[in-house]
Amino acid sequence: MPIASVNPVNGHTVKTYEPHTEADVEHRLAVCAAEFPRWRSRPFAERAGILLAAASALESRKVEWGRLMTVEMGKPINAAIAEAEKCAWACRYYAENGERFLADEAVTTDASASFVRYEPLGPVLAVMPWNFPFWQVFRFAAPALMAGNVGLLKHASNVPGCALAIEEIFRTAGAPEGAFRTLLVGSDRVGQIIADPRIVAVTLTGSDAAGASVGRAAGERIKKTVLELGGSDPFVVLPSADLEAAAKTAVKARTINNGQSCIAAKRFIVHADVYDAFEKRFVEGMKALKVGDPSDASVDVGPLATPSIRDDVEGQVQRSVAAGAKVKLGGKRLDGPGNFYAPTVLTDIPPGSPADAEEIFGPVASLFRVASIDEAIAAANRSQYGLGASAWTRDAGERERLERELAAGSVFINGMVKSDPRLPFGGVKKSGHGRELSWHGIREFVNIKTVWVG
Ligand code: NAP
Repeated sequence: MPIASVNPVNGHTVKTYEPHTEADVEHRLAVCAAEFPRWRSRPFAERAGILLAAASALESRKVEWGRLMTVEMGKPINAAIAEAEKCAWACRYYAENGERFLADEAVTTDASASFVRYEPLGPVLAVMPWNFPFWQVFRFAAPALMAGNVGLLKHASNVPGCALAIEEIFRTAGAPEGAFRTLLVGSDRVGQIIADPRIVAVTLTGSDAAGASVGRAAGERIKKTVLELGGSDPFVVLPSADLEAAAKTAVKARTINNGQSCIAAKRFIVHADVYDAFEKRFVEGMKALKVGDPSDASVDVGPLATPSIRDDVEGQVQRSVAAGAKVKLGGKRLDGPGNFYAPTVLTDIPPGSPADAEEIFGPVASLFRVASIDEAIAAANRSQYGLGASAWTRDAGERERLERELAAGSVFINGMVKSDPRLPFGGVKKSGHGRELSWHGIREFVNIKTVWVG
């Protein structure tokens, strides 16, 4: 893919960028590797000060950054501005808590003193997706920099403006040149960068195919990875649920970010006793969404980020319908310019069809009717993914079972799955491994060093 900003509303190229040459990449790697020993030896308070300055920059220019995100990948403007604010929150959170999360831990043994110490690893490569073009990067960068690592970003090829803006935010916040650098390169050059001995670890947020490729390259060199991959989150509704709240949240959970979120609810698994009532409310809610230009603050759903994403969604819906699924709403691309796809509801979905078995990265909901909580849990867990799960019930016994038996990195009861700097985030199965956020996230890219003194 060429490195260009193309507005998904109309297909117009906003700006193109020359990819970095081999010499450019070499320079950035060298600068980061040279900076690491200096950066790691700076006191926590100094690194925290830079994160706090980055937080202030994010807040003071949030409208500008929000517009940039909207133009490059089509997310509704208010959500884009909120994303800049959330990045500021993550910077503050790690500035305020990072030192405590990485404090030495004394352990009583037969030694005169023994303890665990957390030390940074070095330059970490971050391969990031376009869907939350600021948030995905900051949730890696804030803890990594606070821990004393330095970061190199290979962002998705359709959001180069965001990639360069993030570099600028850290630079103007006072970070030295080598603490955080952007590499404008295509995915075909990632393997070579991972192989470079100066890169010590890799984090990737993206599809499972990209995760497998990066995992393979890192594995060959015995380098640590964190992989945050795709999801097909279940949204389970049982008879005791507050149906009004569940249906309203379901619409938001499916269409957030124009349906392009890893933790969007994608499979709605509803008990037969309340299925018809839920479906009615849900379809009404999906129908009421305003689709249009995401720079208009009243719009709920903008275009998909690229023409190929829309082609993929269209193909998945067509193959599901060919297999027997019914279209209750939408089911087609919208005429006119831009990558618009209608909010869609599918029912009577055959097992194994794309709407059942694959991740659909667009505003397409798959509805399933089940006869019991056992069936609901089995349906939720038969996915190849295990990122998040949302479940709705007011029954304490059911709640206990759902918390324990849903195979996912997070379970939200009576609420929508969302990320929060205070809580760990990540998946099981093909949704990846490792955790971001909370104290778990900051301890991913550190040497957990045992010290024993006789
Ligand atoms: P993607 O195509 O996998 O791209 C993600 C990043 O990986 C981009 O920077 C891309 O670069 C790069 N990449 C792609 N193939 C690669 C390869 N073979 N080797 C090395 N790098 C490669 O994913 P996307 O379309 O941007 O994002 C959507 C996917 O991300 C969905 O599956 C979604 O669920 C997942 N996601 C997961 C999380 C999470 O936290 N678990 C969060 C957000 C999104 P180019 O752009 O240059 O190709």
